[in-house]
Amino acid sequence: MSKEPKSKEQKSAGQRLADKLFFAAKNCWEAIDEKTEKEVEAFARSYRKMLDRGKTEREFSAASVELLRKEGFIDLEKIKEIKPGAKVVQHIRGKALVAAVVGKRPLAEGVNILGAHVDSPRLDLKQSPLYEESEFAFLDTHYYGGIKKYQWTTIPLAMHGVFIDSAGKEICVTIGEDEDDPVFTITDLLPHLAQEQLQKKASEVVEGEELDVLAGSRPYNDEKVKEKVKLLVLSILNEKYGIDERGFAAAEIEFVPAFKARDLGLDRSMIGAYGHDDRCCAYPALRALVEIAAAKEPPEKTAVCYFSDKEETGSYGNTGAQSWGFENFVAALAGEDKLRRCFERSSMLSTDVNAAFDPSYASVFDKRNSSYLGKGLVLTKYTGSKGKSGASDANAEFCAKVQAMLNRNSIPWQTGALGKVDKGGGGTIALYAAKYGMDVLDCGVPVLSMHSPFEVISKIDLYMAFRGYVAFLREM
Ligand code: MN
Ligand code: MN
Repeated sequence: MSKEPKSKEQKSAGQRLADKLFFAAKNCWEAIDEKTEKEVEAFARSYRKMLDRGKTEREFSAASVELLRKEGFIDLEKIKEIKPGAKVVQHIRGKALVAAVVGKRPLAEGVNILGAHVDSPRLDLKQSPLYEESEFAFLDTHYYGGIKKYQWTTIPLAMHGVFIDSAGKEICVTIGEDEDDPVFTITDLLPHLAQEQLQKKASEVVEGEELDVLAGSRPYNDEKVKEKVKLLVLSILNEKYGIDERGFAAAEIEFVPAFKARDLGLDRSMIGAYGHDDRCCAYPALRALVEIAAAKEPPEKTAVCYFSDKEETGSYGNTGAQSWGFENFVAALAGEDKLRRCFERSSMLSTDVNAAFDPSYASVFDKRNSSYLGKGLVLTKYTGSKGKSGASDANAEFCAKVQAMLNRNSIPWQTGALGKVDKGGGGTIALYAAKYGMDVLDCGVPVLSMHSPFEVISKIDLYMAFRGYVAFLREM
């Protein structure tokens, strides 16, 4: 057995030319060394923990703020001086977040931004959700984001969110995460009686109004009341959280899958979990900012991490990327008068997921332009649909700059597209950043089964995202 790798002399002229000219992203596991493997595993472990803690935008952003404060980040309103090395954080209405490590150069020269979103598709409770039917108690939902509705039946669901009491105090609710907690579910029809249902189009098999969460079946013990099952459910909520039926009107209660993030596959190369989109980019972005904050020297340019909410419904609302929250934060650091100049010279990675090639559904993917699990960070020049409609479409110059930065740091990357032309489409927050005139490129982690209750990513892509984001904040 020869120890030496094949020398160049053994290759034909054509092979050598092909090595030089062809570009094909390689599977990152193939050439992994022991040290990297350990880092990949450690990073995956901490990510799984964070996912289990942060299943909603509120929980994930709160856990992020907590981590940042522990690392010495100070709330924007408490910060005394904006000087190089200053670490600042702002939690926007408990759902979105902006944080920065102030760099050596003036903000007017531009900042480097990692922008992710921390909301995920789910089922939201309506304002008057609780009803009794045939001696069952149900909670009526309106789904949030793009989901295949039939995927959300017959799985254990957990209840997360907040009620606001009469004094205006927030009451946090989590039911279904502890092993001893009860869970919830949405029922489906048995196959024996589903002949008619199974003839329906998949989009109609389970309709939006049928996504009602089963919440109880035991009557309150009093013959004189009507709706005994509903009353018992309410009395339990009242005992535990002090709320009555009116409480739902001013609440934000979300139902999410009750299962935990798990290693996936015999080789444990993947992670299966709810909410990878977009926490598998948000978490590496957060950790990258922490890494920058922990360095001896402040970064050249100010490093910013932005977690937006409401991406899955169009980035509207005062916590979405179309609101001024992010702008206001940078204005506070840069000075109102320098904000536009700062933005115009800034760079942003829109750190969001890409649809990975799935051999089980090969027909909708363009094999040469798809991203693949295990092949590193995905650079998506444009999203949108039907003739690039709604796409920000990154400039060639910026794409080249990001690619060169990744190459310099030996970080594997691949290109990505959202399926074949005219097969569908989607978007990210990239276009809302692009409107300021800054450079933006979508750069994230490839995902299988996106927007399902159990999405799949590769551990190595997650880790490469972290390393790529650190390099971006340091060097752009
Ligand atoms: Mn996303
Ligand atoms: Mn999404």
